Amino acid sequence: MSQSLVTMSYIVATILFIFSLSGLSNQETARRGNYYGMLGMAIAIIATALSASVTSYAILIVALLIGGAIGARAALKVEMTQMPELVAIMHSLVGMAAVLVGYANFMDSTITIGGVEKTIHEMEIYIGILIGAVTFSGSVIAFGKLSEKISGKPMLLPGRHWFNLMLLIAAFVLGYVFLQQVESGGNAIIPLAIMTGIALIFGVHMVMAIGGADMPVVVSMLNSYSGWAAAATGFMLSNDLLIVTGALVGSSGAILSYIMCRAMNRNFISVIAGGFGTGSGGEAAVVEGEVQPISAEETAQLLLDAKNIMIIPGYGMAVAQAQHTVNEITKLLRDKGKKVGFGIHPVAGRMPGHMNVLLAEAKVPYDIVYEMDEINEDWAHVDVSIVIGANDIVNPSALDDPNSPIAGMPVLECWKGETTVVLKRSMASGYAGVGNPLFVLENTRMLFGDANATMQAVLKALKG
Ligand code: NDP
Repeated sequence: MSQSLVTMSYIVATILFIFSLSGLSNQETARRGNYYGMLGMAIAIIATALSASVTSYAILIVALLIGGAIGARAALKVEMTQMPELVAIMHSLVGMAAVLVGYANFMDSTITIGGVEKTIHEMEIYIGILIGAVTFSGSVIAFGKLSEKISGKPMLLPGRHWFNLMLLIAAFVLGYVFLQQVESGGNAIIPLAIMTGIALIFGVHMVMAIGGADMPVVVSMLNSYSGWAAAATGFMLSNDLLIVTGALVGSSGAILSYIMCRAMNRNFISVIAGGFGTGSGGEAAVVEGEVQPISAEETAQLLLDAKNIMIIPGYGMAVAQAQHTVNEITKLLRDKGKKVGFGIHPVAGRMPGHMNVLLAEAKVPYDIVYEMDEINEDWAHVDVSIVIGANDIVNPSALDDPNSPIAGMPVLECWKGETTVVLKRSMASGYAGVGNPLFVLENTRMLFGDANATMQAVLKALKG
């Protein structure tokens, strides 16, 4: 394929990626956005495969087959609840690719550039490996935390901020030494390898220090890092499409991190410096009081007596895969003339937009799905709120216990409505590991059991 055709294909792919991102920003256009993204990626891969930069088709085909097979198997096997972990581990691969491409470029003796251009290229390699290594190790730890293989509790080393600062300074100094060694023809691989080790440690330390409740910011931040790592790879390989795509992912991830921080009332710098998720240092209040259990039949009666119903889905709805039953109940209640809405917290579930994806899958109409800010003033008009497998996002202690790890995070204030029914299996805490006083409030009823089983029982009672 001629270079101009490759460039044209890259421009088309870039435009499709931009359409894709804009489509993904709205539920109604998200499916179309995905198609644009797929088409853009197919064009990008074909154009690159047919470009002059490919020197061995045998290696390319073997790599495509291995990568494609692993990707297809992972996508087919993954449960909806494991999606956040899959995304985290995918980010780690982007990081690893940046590191490997960096080293391959560094060792490539066929690159014959000199002067300023060479210095710039060496800097690209250094920065690319740095970002890639932080993304890789940080994403592996995020994967461990999201899959609950690693505790969600923040690991707070004494003097951790000084430690981080030390690592940062060391990375700068090593960068200088690296460039000096390259100039003088010395052993530049040593500072490069030490920096890689430091970046790996930094990634691990950064994510280990973040408390469970602040993980959404980390997930979106690593998403952003993976974009910058891809852009760095693009610079190293002189591939414009990779630079543009990486920058798109990097900047949209950064915007998402900002949105997440705002939704959780957190300061971005404080979150990535670690130590949030620990409250103000005191002990979080222990929840005391009697819970009032309720049966599925009583819940159905409550719903039949109500006019205005709000459903609050959380991570447990994803675990129970209750969204289809919930949709059936919604249809039935709306047919009976009830006003039914869904209240979505920005960090509900385990990945941004998690609940919206589930509800869209069950074909819940978009116009009855509300964001937290749209409904948090209106609870006084709600007769019954049904909390389905949610916990942290409806925890009143976020507002009134300054020692709580989630202190300051806005929550769905459902307790201000007339009655709240909480569906969960036990009194266990949520992801942030804190007790929830909502469960013992006077106007709260607990419907214990797997959310899909209890929702099925409620549906049966409603029909009966
Ligand atoms: P939580 O993790 O706070 O609570 C989920 C609740 O669901 C649990 O208390 C659990 O209780 C219940 N549950 C689990 N399985 C079932 C089941 N089969 N049937 C019924 N209930 C079930 O989830 P939330 O959505 O309220 O909050 C999200 C949390 O995750 C926040 O802390 C957020 O910061 C964090 N997070 C969010 C990310 C994001 O991007 N959205 C990313 C990473 C973390 P029980 O075991 O008793 O059933």
